Amino acid sequence: MKATKNKALIRSTQSVANELMRATKWAVFDDYRTYSGASWGRGIYVYDLEGIDYEYQPLVRYPDLFLRFARLADNNGLDDELETEKNEAVAFEWVKSYGLLGGGAEASVAMRTRGGEPGDSLRGFTSEAWAAHHTLKSYEAATRPNGPDVESLVKLTSEQDRDLILNSAQETVREWALWQVRLIIQSEIAGGVYPQVYRLADGSCMQGLGFNSLLSAMWIQMFWLAAADHVRRCKNQECSRVVSFEQPQQQAHPELRRSSRGGRYATREGKEFCSATCRYSYHHLTVRKPKRQAKKTR
Ligand SMILES: [Zn+2]
Repeated sequence: MKATKNKALIRSTQSVANELMRATKWAVFDDYRTYSGASWGRGIYVYDLEGIDYEYQPLVRYPDLFLRFARLADNNGLDDELETEKNEAVAFEWVKSYGLLGGGAEASVAMRTRGGEPGDSLRGFTSEAWAAHHTLKSYEAATRPNGPDVESLVKLTSEQDRDLILNSAQETVREWALWQVRLIIQSEIAGGVYPQVYRLADGSCMQGLGFNSLLSAMWIQMFWLAAADHVRRCKNQECSRVVSFEQPQQQAHPELRRSSRGGRYATREGKEFCSATCRYSYHHLTVRKPKRQAKKTR
């Protein structure tokens, strides 16, 4: 009798734990579709809520997910105007790989569906991508290794603050810009990310970070970046983009580690360049050009 009771208790604890565990995962569905309408605008939604392609732990699998998101707008990747064909194509590609952003959904909705509904408006997606882009750019400009990049900061700042940037000492500019970045991060993660403890089948406990939306999960990475002591920048010296940074190690749930797609680690520690273009320029400047010059002077 007692044994049966214990078993039932363990089973129910386990199911509560599994339920909590879901808060660290996000779902990518098989079938996304676009919608558009005069009153609700354009967007992307899940066509079949039963058809989950795979679930993954964004903070475990993609330590650079925020960087990926913030760089969508690099090199004219996104239009300024929010609801364009081009932005829709970018958003759709993103959603097929990482799932909907889910920003703005209340916690209860997000907890129930983990990536399924309600759909993302294109307006929301694009403005969030631009916000992430501006924040990362501001951070990179403020913390450039050889002093703040005033020219970029002026472009990224509202008119009323431009005088302050142009007429202050480097250290003041850096601190002020970082302060602005931190304010944005704080407002993006407030209420969206929280510690979770879950129990494994062997009775031990693990902890992870739960989140209400993929967007909140990505912003915690920007929070870690702003707090990191060790940040690696692109090896191409003309580029000051961040390529990786120190962040708290997130534990993969064993259940996901076993599955073929959901639990693969994607550590990017070995990454030296932000892009193939930068790898090429670096190689060109440091290897090919000097070689050619040496040949000429011979
Ligand atoms: Zn680069």
